[in-house]
Amino acid sequence: MTESEGPETVAVVGAGAVGTTAAYDLARDGADVTLFEAGDIAGGSTGRASGICYDAFAEDVDAAVAQRAMERFRAFDGQGDFELTPWPYVWLAREGDERRAEAIREQVPRMQTNGRNVELVDPADLAAEFDDLRTDDVAVAAVAHDAAHVVPETYPPLLAEKAEAEGATVRTDTPVDLSTDPTGVVPDGEDAVQEFDAVLVAAGAHSKQLLADAGAPIAMKPYRVQALTASDDLAVPICYDATGGFYLRPHPEGLLAGDGTEEVEADPDEWDRDADDWFLDDMAEGLDRRIGQSPEVERSWAGLCTATPDRDPLLGEVRDGLYVATGFQGHGFMRSPALGEAVAAEILGDEGIEPFDPTRFEGDEAFEIVEGMDVE
Ligand SMILES: Cc1cc2nc3c(=O)[nH]c(=O)nc-3n(C[C@H](O)[C@H](O)[C@H](O)COP(=O)(O)OP(=O)(O)OC[C@H]3O[C@@H](n4cnc5c(N)ncnc54)[C@H](O)[C@@H]3O)c2cc1C
Repeated sequence: MTESEGPETVAVVGAGAVGTTAAYDLARDGADVTLFEAGDIAGGSTGRASGICYDAFAEDVDAAVAQRAMERFRAFDGQGDFELTPWPYVWLAREGDERRAEAIREQVPRMQTNGRNVELVDPADLAAEFDDLRTDDVAVAAVAHDAAHVVPETYPPLLAEKAEAEGATVRTDTPVDLSTDPTGVVPDGEDAVQEFDAVLVAAGAHSKQLLADAGAPIAMKPYRVQALTASDDLAVPICYDATGGFYLRPHPEGLLAGDGTEEVEADPDEWDRDADDWFLDDMAEGLDRRIGQSPEVERSWAGLCTATPDRDPLLGEVRDGLYVATGFQGHGFMRSPALGEAVAAEILGDEGIEPFDPTRFEGDEAFEIVEGMDVE
């Protein structure tokens, strides 16, 4: 460490989008970093994500985080296998859904105040621009111009490689245990505790259990969401139908669509990786409405997201030397370059992002899981 008074040795647990970003930033800024990953790089939720990225957030802190994330994604574009495909993001409410229509009308000026390149748009103009998008039933639509889609599993390998280039050690197939000592990591199959000055738990859905084992409970619940791809190559924007509660985007295989939130806590070690029939039926109906057809499904799957009581992330120090980055409500990939950066900076001595301070909760709060990608 040369530039700051921060910790010299840091363990990062989890090589998803957030952990690899933090590992890179920490190593680049002088920390001696070891990144522990239970399985493969991007083998967690990041590898199952839909790759939708946008900066259309109304709250000022969210807008600033998303702006920074998109800025970094643009800088990483073209490095390794990571490619960012700029594409507009449209979100809409249907006729008769006055509550969500009003929410969109209210959000857009707030986003604009925060410097986001978004605007309300005439649904008929959208249909004219995107041949396969149906908007006859749409009451209100907005478009975010600084959005993109990516293949999400290409991002963590790039950041892990960059971390290694800055001197970090990356240990895959190495689940760790924090139960012996919260800043002492015990890699699976080893007896000795490896001591670190700081430990960052960026273990996605497993973060809750790891931190409970370390005696630092957090207010987070993993929950299951679902997605599918279909082979038809369609002219559509990235689109979130808020009334129907689903999204779609163009995809290298044709079309990707998803949501299918199961609003119950999932067991991160035992959950159904396949999509449910009800999700496939709902998507057939939703896609028929939005693109005038129900394309044949090529692949479908489920994955885990992480909820918090106020739907804001848990990002920062939970106890001396022990940090967390989780609770992203389905928006963790698109914000990962900024959230990983922010928690790395906090570990090295900067202020954290105050509204995301994980100690705002005791950790034992009762709360309901509410789906993340909503406009309410
Ligand atoms: C179907 C689906 C679609 C989604 N679509 C989007 C989207 O379009 N845009 C968006 O922004 N977000 C989306 N998300 C959410 C997004 O996937 C997550 O918010 C994001 O990937 C979280 O990244 P992470 O690094 O926190 O966690 P993860 O990617 O889950 O990484 C955590 C890692 O920790 C490892 N780990 C766990 N326990 C241990 C241990 N004990 N020791 C060592 N390693 C451990 C895991 O193996 C895993 O690799 C989607 C999620 C799903 C499931």
